Amino acid sequence: MSLSSRAALPVPSAADASIDQTVGSESPKEACGLFGVWAPGEDVARLTFFGLFALQHRGQESAGMAVADGHRIVVYRELGLVSQVFNEVTLSSLQGDLCIGHTRYSTTGSSTWDNAQPTFKTNGTRGLALGHNGNLVNTSELARRAGRRTRASSDTDVVATLLAQHLHEGLEEAAIRVLPTLSGAFSFVLCDERTVFAARDPFGIRPLAIGRLPGGGWCVASETCALDVVGASYVREVQPGELVALDERGVRSRRFDEHPTPKLCLFEFVYLGRADSRMYGRSLHEARREMGRRLARESPADADLVIPIPDTGHSAAQGYAEVSGIPYGEGLMKNRYIGRTFIEPTPALRSRGVRLKLNPLPDAVRGKRLVVVDDSIVRGTTTRQIVQVLRDAGAAQVHLRIVSPPIRWPCFYGIDMSTRGELVAAQNDVDGIRELVGADSLAYLSVDSLVASTESPRGSFCRACFDGEYPIPVGDEEPSKFALETL
Ligand code: SF4
Repeated sequence: MSLSSRAALPVPSAADASIDQTVGSESPKEACGLFGVWAPGEDVARLTFFGLFALQHRGQESAGMAVADGHRIVVYRELGLVSQVFNEVTLSSLQGDLCIGHTRYSTTGSSTWDNAQPTFKTNGTRGLALGHNGNLVNTSELARRAGRRTRASSDTDVVATLLAQHLHEGLEEAAIRVLPTLSGAFSFVLCDERTVFAARDPFGIRPLAIGRLPGGGWCVASETCALDVVGASYVREVQPGELVALDERGVRSRRFDEHPTPKLCLFEFVYLGRADSRMYGRSLHEARREMGRRLARESPADADLVIPIPDTGHSAAQGYAEVSGIPYGEGLMKNRYIGRTFIEPTPALRSRGVRLKLNPLPDAVRGKRLVVVDDSIVRGTTTRQIVQVLRDAGAAQVHLRIVSPPIRWPCFYGIDMSTRGELVAAQNDVDGIRELVGADSLAYLSVDSLVASTESPRGSFCRACFDGEYPIPVGDEEPSKFALETL
């Protein structure tokens, strides 16, 4: 027996949205956070809550959990932040031996309750729950094969339907059959009544790490910061093309692709991952500091103060200040208490929200020539507003330094920038962008320096939004986020 619940949205507390990493800067939006835990005897829902809370930056549209006790799966999900969706009452009602959880930012399908995850399916006798980070590029073909008959319009729902069609063989065998038919980026956490599974596409575009709990349980998370929060020690990454099972038999590994080609998203290092996470064994904070150092050498500026766009610009701005010898300081304060109303991914809300999110410190910036360090520029509209806010506060000059190369190509692998038309660098050269955003100077970090900062080889990354080299073919047509809503 299984149950899928919809709850009334609790009233947000003042602490809500305190880890809103996506507001403020001109940054791409991430596509979801995953957490899974197998730990009989522990409060698995609470562990998952803490794990999801650490991954809130990867998606703020909805949150959910699926708990299983060996006999049934209970799913609870709702639109909103982790702290809005779950409270003491809901957590206490979610008891079991294992749990998987999800935070969502939509890249396929609208931001509706039906598309919130984990997605639940049953074949009448067995159930499965699935959470997805990434984006598939053969979703329409898969949907036709699945004979989709649900209200959900996400690629994840299609995958869950396909898995359910093989569930009589067990979820592990179903996954081994279905995963090789998927094309695109996917990190999955999934479960049946007894076992947590984790899988990563053969290119390993999105991260996924395994941890060991002190009491002997196991967990998986999109980022290592979520393992830290629950007291788990890092074991290893789920390998590209690998399906991992976590249960009383320990960690079991099966390959569903014999020729994996690791291509982790390079943007995870720039912006998407939290600074206190590690990827490819490298601390993201240290990598970002190194990006800032290299940016200072590549593109110096005659200035009085280096300021970050909070929060992701902090590490790189420190590195820039260190090499340039220009003092580092704060020039913008971020409002950390913004509810999800202001972070829904609609252009109107995006453009209206910036002044609510970032407030300048006039005493710090007045009369100063500023180096402003940000992680990226996608559309340019937010950057223009930030430059204007700083000028209005009395800044004498604004020199923008960006710790990524220009984003000239769309992403089809789970980041919400899927058309060239929305990318300011696809239409303009660097000086044209400088003029549009109103900065005194503008410079980007080179691809070579960005890769060198990660201490991993260039070939181990997807860099497609910077150089147009897509590791997974996407066909001639740019996939639509809402493709399944028109089928
Ligand atoms: S296209 Fe860019 S954002 Fe998308 S997966 Fe590749 S590197 Fe990451």
